[in-house]
Formats: sequence, structure tokens, C-alpha cells
Amino acid sequence: METKEYLQMIREVKDCAFATVDESGKPEVRIIDVMMVEDDCLYFLTARGKNFYRQLLDQEFVALTGLTKNWEMLCLRGKVKQVEQDYLRPIFEQNPSMNEVYPGDSRNILEVFCLYEGQGEYFNLSQTPVFRETFLVGKQEETYKGFLITDGCIECGTCASVCPQQCIKAGTPYVIRQENCLHCGLCAETCPVTAIDKRPGFQTAFAPSRKFLL
Ligand code: SF4
Ligand code: SF4
Repeated sequence: METKEYLQMIREVKDCAFATVDESGKPEVRIIDVMMVEDDCLYFLTARGKNFYRQLLDQEFVALTGLTKNWEMLCLRGKVKQVEQDYLRPIFEQNPSMNEVYPGDSRNILEVFCLYEGQGEYFNLSQTPVFRETFLVGKQEETYKGFLITDGCIECGTCASVCPQQCIKAGTPYVIRQENCLHCGLCAETCPVTAIDKRPGFQTAFAPSRKFLL
């Protein structure tokens, strides 16, 4: 699917968990409504009195996740910026219940933020095999998660036999079907010749020093 469709799915979920870090560097999370999606940007609100507002201004970055009623997980991490309060008008039009929460001029305590660049992932655990797909927002370059079988593979078949999703194909070398992979790491742990590496950009306990990208 295209980015536009994934953003629309996030908008339909609407109530998503948004994460930032607090002043001491610890994670902080809260439910925020995704108010509008336009031109591949995702819009949400917060009030100037909230810690979330200060964190958005300071960090210019947020991570969010939501679950559809069909148990499909969507997550997105990316850059955010504050935009003009003029956006309040279309946002209130598209979300009329906001008039009850912030009636009249009280809406002016709200500020609008836009997520304009980032990387997201769709992950469906309810189908067999599982399915995942990455999508990009704005000029974001893709970073990769999961595992990769290298030329060190001796084609013994051990990884394919233990994979819980049976998503490793025989070949020279063996190949992981990335769209069906759980990222569990069992194949990497069981390969007798350590021929399975993490894909660039993926951080786990296997690579503690690598910058966390998604
Ligand atoms: S376990 Fe390692 S060597 Fe054996 S098929 Fe898998 S990647 Fe290749
Ligand atoms: S990480 Fe897990 S699901 Fe993915 S290929 Fe390896 S064993 Fe299979």
C-alpha cells in the first residue's frame, strides 16, 4: 500500500499512543488524537500548558503507534513541527467533538503540530504468515529492520527448520522473506556458522551501540 493509505489508516485508528522523552531522558507516552491527514502529513494538537507541548518543541520528534480493530499494528516515528493556528479551523471541522472539549475561544490554547518526515511500519500478526511493510513520509530514507543471510551461509537448513513463520527459502545463500519475518532472531541464534546478521539500521541486544532508528 502507499504512504497515503497507511496514514489514512492511522487517522481512522485516531487514538494513538504518542511517545517522547521527559527532561531526564526517560520515555513518556500518552494517547493523542490524530486529527487530520493532508498531503502526506499527519496533524495533531496539544495545549501550551502540557509537558508534551514543550517536549515537541524541544525534540521536534515523536513516535506513535496504534492498533486497528482488525489487530493490525501501525507505528510511525518522525520529525514534527509546529504550524499556524489557522489549522485549528479545518481540524475542528473534521473533529466536531473538539467543540465540546474546547468550546468557543478556549481552543486558542491549542497548538497544531504536523509530522512531515519519518518512517512507519504496518504489521499484521493476525494473518499467516505474518505480514509487515515499511512506509516513508516526506524525504525520509529507509532504514532496515530484521535479519539478513550473508554469503557465509553453508546451506545447512537449520534456520529454515526453526523459523516460526517458515519464511526462510532455500538457496545460495538461503533468503529471508522480509515481509513475513517476526524479527525474533531465532535463526541468527541457531545458525552454526553465524551467517545471519542484522540488516543495517536495526538495533537489538545484539548491537547495543547502534543508534536506534525505528
Ligand atoms: S543456519 Fe546458517 S548456514 Fe544454515 S542455512 Fe541458515 S543461514 Fe545458512
Ligand atoms: S527472525 Fe525469526 S521469523 Fe524472521 S526469519 Fe529469523 S527465525 Fe524466522
